[in-house]
Parts: sequence; structure tokens; C-alpha cells
Amino acid sequence: LAYYFKQIEDNKHLNAFNEVFFYSAEVQAQAVQQKIEQGTAGKLAGMVIGIKDNICYKDHVVTASSKMLDGFVSPYSSTVVKRLLQEDAVIIGRLNCDEFAMGGSNETSYFGPAKNAANAELVPGGSSGGSAVAVQADMCLSALGTDTGGSVRQPAAFCGQIGLKPTYGRISRYGVIAYASSFDQVGPITSSVEDAALLLQVLAGADENDSTVSPLEVPDYPAHLETNEKQKIAVLKETMESDALDPEIKMAILQSIENLKEQGHTVEYVSFDLLDYLVPAYYILTTAEASSNLSRYDGVHYGHRNTEAKSLNELYKKSRAEGFGEEVKRRILLGTFVLSAGYYDAYYQKAQQVRRLIKEKLDALFQDYDLILSPVAPTPAFKIGDNMQDPLVMYMADIFTVLPSLSGNPAIALPLGNNSAGLPLSIQFTAKHFEEGKLLAFSQAFL
Ligand code: GLN
Repeated sequence: LAYYFKQIEDNKHLNAFNEVFFYSAEVQAQAVQQKIEQGTAGKLAGMVIGIKDNICYKDHVVTASSKMLDGFVSPYSSTVVKRLLQEDAVIIGRLNCDEFAMGGSNETSYFGPAKNAANAELVPGGSSGGSAVAVQADMCLSALGTDTGGSVRQPAAFCGQIGLKPTYGRISRYGVIAYASSFDQVGPITSSVEDAALLLQVLAGADENDSTVSPLEVPDYPAHLETNEKQKIAVLKETMESDALDPEIKMAILQSIENLKEQGHTVEYVSFDLLDYLVPAYYILTTAEASSNLSRYDGVHYGHRNTEAKSLNELYKKSRAEGFGEEVKRRILLGTFVLSAGYYDAYYQKAQQVRRLIKEKLDALFQDYDLILSPVAPTPAFKIGDNMQDPLVMYMADIFTVLPSLSGNPAIALPLGNNSAGLPLSIQFTAKHFEEGKLLAFSQAFL
């Protein structure tokens, strides 16, 4: 633990942590030490882990990197935190992220951007940017993020780590601050596939506090990482032909495709003509859900409260005006708009229909293939400030990650070496619903 505390101190400029839990981590580490000596320690004994600052941990502050929740102490623990502690992990602190997980660069955080350890002028990706940097710079062994449209996979990609978004319904969302509830999933960011498998095994499975979690039995992922199975892999043609795709990423992926073929896997290009609809459908649906989820922050129930308001309405307005950042406000407005009478059919309902089409299309694809291969992000990590001028530029960068989010499939971002500037590159694989076991075993062989 002392080692990680020192790493955190030495990497303070990366702004990865919103808070280090010096005291509770120390207490937990001592308790685990005793259990280890008695031979009663759990599966994660000694794993030092950071959690994204939108995951509730009893008696600890949780802010979602928003002024709205600055100083808010959680009265209960999320299911994922309970399961980590039950298996004797040590939670070292809460990690910086985009405000309410809305963003792809960690720049919308009220506490300022986290920075990429490969080059501190670059973003770490987002929204789980702090989680990715913390693992990248060895400030903890692994971290939890949340992924609504890429927030585990894309920062993992920008920081050269492994990021797994499980199937929607694999891990409980109880006690995780909601952004878009029909998309949100907790996922691990790790430097090894073994750690991802171990964490998934501990975190997954039914929870009486979240009815959207599947009752399906949780496989012993770590025990089944060795495999020689040959996979049938589909490459989405349009993703590789996209103008937005950085040439070095493209080259690295093409090289991987050759390697996979040499190893005996079948790799085929298939057409996916819905690519242009992914980002619009994603942003209509997620902003709609966000506008509903964030209505609870009204200055009365919890969070920031304006002190000068003279009426209830004024209190709502001022508290929200002061508490929320620009991007969050933009999304609440967008979401309210697409749900409003007169526009509901044209936007929200249409987007739901598109989502259904996308799901059907993927299900059909998965009748013939085991895995889908695509890029994670169109570019490597970019400069802090570069994509903030135009929200649409930022949104379009989610084009490859939102597909499994819309369909609910599990997907993983894997490191693919560095580019000529020394920045991490990556590749994404998507599997059938609840086939994380296959995805992890394949990833292990791939790396
Ligand atoms: N960048 C995407 C967004 O801003 C994804 C965020 C996330 O997965 N939480 O919505």
C-alpha cells in the first residue's frame, strides 16, 4: 500500500485521484493482512483498486466529478464495492472522471482534467479517465470505471490498458450514479487479462437490489483463460473504411488481422450499413435517460443548494444553474427536448427503433460469427482542449464504442502497441451476450 501511496504522490500532476482513502485503505489492508495470515483471505486479497468517483462507498464522499455533489457523503455502498470488500480488495481512492460520466476526455470534470501518463499534454480519454491513468501510472493495480458508450474501453485504449464492458445486466448498477440506465455498466480497467477475469467473476451476478441483473450463473472466468479455440471473426467493413480512422491505427489493426489469420482464426469483412446512425441514436437515447436521471439533483434532496433563493422554483433553478457544468446542462436540455410532446415521435421513438434494428442486425451477425473486430477510437489520445470547442467532434469520436452499448453486448479494448509518437493504440472485440468467458480467453491468447 505504501508503494501505491508513493506512486500517487509522485504522479499528482496527472490529477487521477479526486481523493485518496488513506485511512480506510490502511484499515482494510491491515484486516486483509490478518486474514492472509489466518488463511481465510478472499479472492482479491491484496488487490489495491481505485474506483471511479461515481461509485458509492459507504461513509465516503462521492461526487461524479460535479460541483453538484461536491462533499456529498454516501450513506451506503454500491453492490460492486460490497463485493470488492467481501473478497478483500483494498480500495485506495476515488478517481477523476467526466462530470456525471458525460464526456470522452475527462475534460468536463469539475476538478479539472486528468492527464495521460504517456504525455501529460494529452487527455487520458473518458469518461473513466482517472481510472485508466491510475492503472497506467501504477497508482493502483486495477480500477473500476463505468461504460455507457465507451467510457471504460476508450480511456483504457488511450492509456494502453485493458478495458472490459460486460454484457448489459452482468454487473449490478446498484449504488452507481446513473447516467443512462439502459446503457450503464461497471467495468474493470486492468493491465492483465487475468485481473479483468478475476474482477468480473467477483463483481458479476444477480443482485436483489438491481432487477436488471441477469440471474445467469457466473462462470469461473480466471479458470478458463487457456484456450486454443479458433474463432470466426467479423470485421465491420465500414469501420475500417471510415475517413475518421487514424492511418496508424488502421495499419496496426490490419496487421492484427493478418496475425489472427496466421494463427488459424477465420477473419472476414462484413458490411454494417447502420454505422452513420449509431452516434445519433446513442445521443438521443442517453440524453433522454440522463434528463430523467438527473432531475433528482434539485438542490433539495441532495447536493449543491443555492442559499439566496426566495421561492422553491428559484431554488431549483439557481441550484442547478450553479451545480451543473456546461456539458451536463447541454445534455439535460437535449434530453428534455427529444422527450417533449411533439418531438417525441420524431426523435426518441425513432432512436428506439434504430436501437432495435441495430440489435437485430448484430444478433444476425452473431449467428455466423463468434466475435466482431473493430477499432476502439478513431484516433489515439488527443491534446487537452482540442476537442472541447465543438461537442459534435467529441460525440463523433464515440462512433466505434457505442455499438455494443446500444446492443448490450460485451466488448473489450486491448492494447496494440504504440504509434510513432509513442502513444498507445488499441483494438476492440465484441462477443455475444454473456460470452465474456470467450472474450477474455480470446484476449489472453491475442495478447
Ligand atoms: N463519450 C460518451 C458520452 O459522452 C460515453 C460516456 C460514457 O460511456 N459514460 O456519452
